[in-house]
Amino acid sequence: MTRIRTRIAPSPTGDPHVGTAYIALFNRCFAHKSGGKFILRIEDTDRQRSSAKSEADILASLQWLGLSWDEGPGCEGEFGPYRQSERSEIYSAHIEKLVVDGFAFPCFCSAERLTELRRQQLQDKQVIGYDGHCLQLSKDEVSTRLQQGSEHVIRMKIPDSGNCEFNDLLRGAVSIAWSQVDMQILMKSDGLPTYHFANVVDDHLMLISHVIRGEEWINSMPKHLLLYQYFGWQAPIFCHMPLLRNPDKSKLSKRKNPTSIGYYQAMGYLPEALVNYLGLMGWSLPSGEEKFSLQEMTDCFDLERVSLGGPVFDTEKLDWLNGKYIREDLSDDEFAQKFAQWAFGGSKVKRIIPLLKQRVERFSDVAELGSFFISGLPKLDVESFQHKQLSTETLLKILQFSLWRLQQIKPWNRDNIELELQTLATDLGLKIREFLFPLFVAISGKAVSTSVFDSMAILELDICRARIRHAIAVLRGISKKQAKALEREYRDLK
Ligand code: GLU
Repeated sequence: MTRIRTRIAPSPTGDPHVGTAYIALFNRCFAHKSGGKFILRIEDTDRQRSSAKSEADILASLQWLGLSWDEGPGCEGEFGPYRQSERSEIYSAHIEKLVVDGFAFPCFCSAERLTELRRQQLQDKQVIGYDGHCLQLSKDEVSTRLQQGSEHVIRMKIPDSGNCEFNDLLRGAVSIAWSQVDMQILMKSDGLPTYHFANVVDDHLMLISHVIRGEEWINSMPKHLLLYQYFGWQAPIFCHMPLLRNPDKSKLSKRKNPTSIGYYQAMGYLPEALVNYLGLMGWSLPSGEEKFSLQEMTDCFDLERVSLGGPVFDTEKLDWLNGKYIREDLSDDEFAQKFAQWAFGGSKVKRIIPLLKQRVERFSDVAELGSFFISGLPKLDVESFQHKQLSTETLLKILQFSLWRLQQIKPWNRDNIELELQTLATDLGLKIREFLFPLFVAISGKAVSTSVFDSMAILELDICRARIRHAIAVLRGISKKQAKALEREYRDLK
């Protein structure tokens, strides 16, 4: 019997996503149920979008949730390195083999040619994809151009007709026409592999037996399976999990729901409850009991019990479950200790104290001034936003534009927040004091508080986003039509 080895392979390009934890959880349970190994691999071949901070946050979030890995960064096993940026030589050797065997080819097409090709295909309502132009080059021409050092990528060859048939553990037989599959770039002109190539090579070399991942990857299956075939390797078993959804059934996205694990941590959820909740996404204990530990889930785990109906990530249900954990599992002492750790244990408090110190006269003033740093959404109503000069329309515009602007800030720090919001205020022709009024209310619940730039920097983007969105809802929200008009106006600002 093959040894079960599963993996989670996040790309460190943003905040740790609950979807990553959900997939990690199912992989871990599946492997550990049968005494197998769960591997963490960092897929950071996109050097522009990957960041060390994002990687560190992902690792810390998985650890916070208790989703530890048996091999991976910080836990080196025999198949490392576990970071793709440290495996370049492996990919170069493998790509060379594919080219020599005639399964892949250099493509010298310029960005302009490819853009024009795409435009033409769109116009002719054809499938968008590479047209095989460089496959027609003679051997001599290819070697001359390679010798001259012409910029190029390596693409894989794809059959021109027929279907790729494969089996998915949850979905059964799947068939995808080769005509829908592009001649995928495997190696970029910078000599780094693309996701598809590195992912297949690593899954093979790391002896991954089961690839359990989100359903958004199912259309990549033909390319992946063809690569296994080109190399003459046995492919792993594939299982594409249903994607998490918003309550309106759309794909879970941070525009509608907080998606970063850091948000749930900052809001004071217990990691056990969040893991349990993620476990309920498309799965349940045979007994139907909804509250279970990671160990219980592992012991009873069975992939076949995963249902394909899109699991809805519903924060109200998560709240209910978290409350149950607090009441049933925490003694008073544990509650006190965990609460104190959450509120005052981290580095956050050290950044809050200097802001509070400037403004209080007694310790008894602290709670009034600083409670918004550790509270959820502030209690607001329309009255909270009463302002002599600013109409509701202007307030909504400030909040919505700020929301869009804040999401672009990188790195998230006080100075960048100040700079962006100052610029926005100027662009809108508003005095900064007026412009900041609805933000003070949205973030702190009051018109006067500690510096709103500092406060936002400390609270982090996810919490700010949730509070601004809440403020917009309190002000009766923005209709789809209004949002469109605002989007246009916002675009014209830049
Ligand atoms: N790096 C991919 C991601 O970020 C991994 C997908 C896979 O599991 O194959 O989702």
